[in-house]
Amino acid sequence: ELASIGVVGMAVMGSNLARNFANHGHKVAIFNRSYEKTEHVMSKYGEETGFIAAKTPEELVASLEKPRRIMMMVKAGAATDATIDTFAPLLEDGDILIDGGNAFYKDTQRREIALRDQGIHFVGVGVSGGEEGALNGPSIMPGGSAHSYEFLGPLLEDISAKYNGEPCCTYIGTDGAGHFVKMVHNGIEYSDMQGIGEAFALLRAAGLTVPEISDIFREWNTGELDSYLIEITSEVLDQVDAKTGQPLIDVIVDAAGQKGTGSWTAQIALELGVDLNAIAESVFARSVSSAPELRKALQPLLQGPDQTIKVEDRDAFVEDVRQALWASKVVAYSQGLDLIRVGAQEYGWDIDVAAVAKIWRAGCIIRAKLLDRISNEYAANSLTNLLEAPSLVEDMGNVQAGWRRTLTRAIEAGVAAPVFSSALAYYDSARSPRLPAFLIQGQRDFFGAHTYKRIDEDGTFHTEWSADRSETKIS
Ligand code: NDP
Repeated sequence: ELASIGVVGMAVMGSNLARNFANHGHKVAIFNRSYEKTEHVMSKYGEETGFIAAKTPEELVASLEKPRRIMMMVKAGAATDATIDTFAPLLEDGDILIDGGNAFYKDTQRREIALRDQGIHFVGVGVSGGEEGALNGPSIMPGGSAHSYEFLGPLLEDISAKYNGEPCCTYIGTDGAGHFVKMVHNGIEYSDMQGIGEAFALLRAAGLTVPEISDIFREWNTGELDSYLIEITSEVLDQVDAKTGQPLIDVIVDAAGQKGTGSWTAQIALELGVDLNAIAESVFARSVSSAPELRKALQPLLQGPDQTIKVEDRDAFVEDVRQALWASKVVAYSQGLDLIRVGAQEYGWDIDVAAVAKIWRAGCIIRAKLLDRISNEYAANSLTNLLEAPSLVEDMGNVQAGWRRTLTRAIEAGVAAPVFSSALAYYDSARSPRLPAFLIQGQRDFFGAHTYKRIDEDGTFHTEWSADRSETKIS
């Protein structure tokens, strides 16, 4: 019997995805560069899955039905290129080579072009949900030729998470579109996590205990903030350290790691000229946390309030913080989706934003109640930006006062809340009839004759700043 799919890379993600395919009745052939990992997987799961274990790339290729489908789950970067170089010469016209790793979308674009001449469909697939998702149903974001999706889509939809029975997998667009959307997903994940951290910091600054805060998150998880990340936050907060008897979080070093996808999102936003400040701040917040020399040097020197918040009405304060968290989350999602809109324009992808929000409703790390609402808003209205959605206009209007009160308290107390505050700056910029950009244009014209436009006349103008200060119309 030939296998319907081959999985290459038997580390955590690959082995679990392979098992997921098998659990859905697909015959799976597996391969890993070093055979020990394959042997290990076979000894644990070989029987229940019926995996075909390939010792060599040639064996894997020979074990697959045509057109062949090979899904790589290897380290991003050079390892992926090496794996492509191993398999591409063994493949034929019409075969599909899939990269399910966390590739940078520009690498996916480059690889797709390189393999196109050979007639190989290269498909870049964003997979979110970690180990558990890989096994039980991740959110899957495939990019590649529409033709390849016809052969591959049904398999991916089978193993994806389901939301009310709908698969959390949909064709995103050509070449790097899937990895682009996965990148933005991870950027949003960063801001969601940082926002939750800021809410925690403010509640604790107001004197609440860790168990009290855990209960507040549990309560929030029953409402509009209902999401996987809020849910696991309570679990993390509940953990007591066996060694010290303290909450575990109090003995975890406060230096956040990152693997790069969040910073890619911020970099691409800069490149494409999209304001993504809430997400970018969440990347920077990890950077400052992980700069021990800087913090050690500055922490004893910089003066300010004692970072405690005196609250008179605890419930009102907690509600304000909840509103600040929810509003900042909406802004971060609007920025991420805006980056997808602009990226799609830049690269000629026909991305359905409502469908993207739909496949994020289950399986992935940012799964949240809000995403169901976002997909409905995009499907029902033709939106340029999420913040235009009528129901969100209203709700943001209702929470903005609490959001401002939260930040006023944070600033007075000296508690940093970079995502809450940058998201509010975005909100206020977006609603301003006039931004001080006119002054920047004046300065630019002054020192560099960069010209400006007038509000009352078409054309481009320049003032003779160093001469008689008369204005000339350039064009
Ligand atoms: P790793 O990222 O740790 O990658 C290990 C695999 O890569 C092994 O199969 C290894 O083979 C192979 N490999 C490493 N270097 C090379 C090389 N030079 N040539 C060929 N093969 C190589 O595994 P994970 O399972 O954690 O992740 C797989 C992919 O999925 C990654 O791209 C990751 O970013 C992505 N991903 C991971 C998620 C997670 O939660 N972990 C979530 C979503 C995506 P060998 O055993 O021979 O060393």
